[in-house]
Amino acid sequence: MCDRYCANETTVASQPHPAATPERAPLRSNSFREYYEALFAAHGPQHWWPGRTSFEVIVGAILVQNTSWTNVEPAIERLRREKLLTPRAIECVSLPRLEKLIHSSGYFRQKAKKLKAFVKFLRDEYQGSIAKMARAETQTLRPQLLAIHGIGPETADSILLYAVGHPVFVVDAYARRILERHGHQLHFVRDGKSRPLNYEEIRQLFERELPRDPRLYNEFHALIVQTGKRYCRPKNPICGGCPLKTFLPNEIAGPTSLTEAPSTISPSSTSLTSSNSSASVPA
Ligand code: SF4
Repeated sequence: MCDRYCANETTVASQPHPAATPERAPLRSNSFREYYEALFAAHGPQHWWPGRTSFEVIVGAILVQNTSWTNVEPAIERLRREKLLTPRAIECVSLPRLEKLIHSSGYFRQKAKKLKAFVKFLRDEYQGSIAKMARAETQTLRPQLLAIHGIGPETADSILLYAVGHPVFVVDAYARRILERHGHQLHFVRDGKSRPLNYEEIRQLFERELPRDPRLYNEFHALIVQTGKRYCRPKNPICGGCPLKTFLPNEIAGPTSLTEAPSTISPSSTSLTSSNSSASVPA
């Protein structure tokens, strides 16, 4: 079983940020384009996702569920030291040893099982080759990833975008919070009843408004996370120093509100239906 993996899985699907590429596609949506340009001008390229190989990115995407990246780094480092950052090695290592090595990332028993489930999927469907997996159509691969034990939409989309370079926008609680605070309608109304848009609907909103460019999605999501962490906190957002403050709706960005926008949503209400939504992702 363990000798059925392809040996060379060392290429990360890293994409240069769109602003660095001469032929970058124009953005279609004014507001989304302006958000992106303002964020990029303020923060520059984010160089996501940290990882030396596509498989390492996938491991990171699973380990960062419900924790911060600072707790994931030591786990990745231990796996690297033990030469376990390959699909074959993860499938061959014993579950107790794997649990011990990734202990720092929290929920280590569940996450060890998720890593095992992913590499089993990779062997069963793609002969253990991430390169083969990467060549699958997005509409085939995404449902396959979502069917793996412990892989929710945000993790699946992080794998698709950051590990294998598919044009899938990664949505998280930061994106939802920023859009809501800037007056975007994130509720679906039918027959007089209203409900919040779910993860899929917000992902489709981004993908409708932006060209299907994985380099753009890569950078934009990373910039959103940076903004959420530095400025757009669940309570007491720091609008005064935020690159997006000029885009606040007039009723919010009044003279008394520039340094603190009303927290119209509670931390719990920003959660999306994703296994990663509370995670603090790599900086
Ligand atoms: S901190 Fe304020 S200006 Fe920045 S994204 Fe959040 S609501 Fe907008």
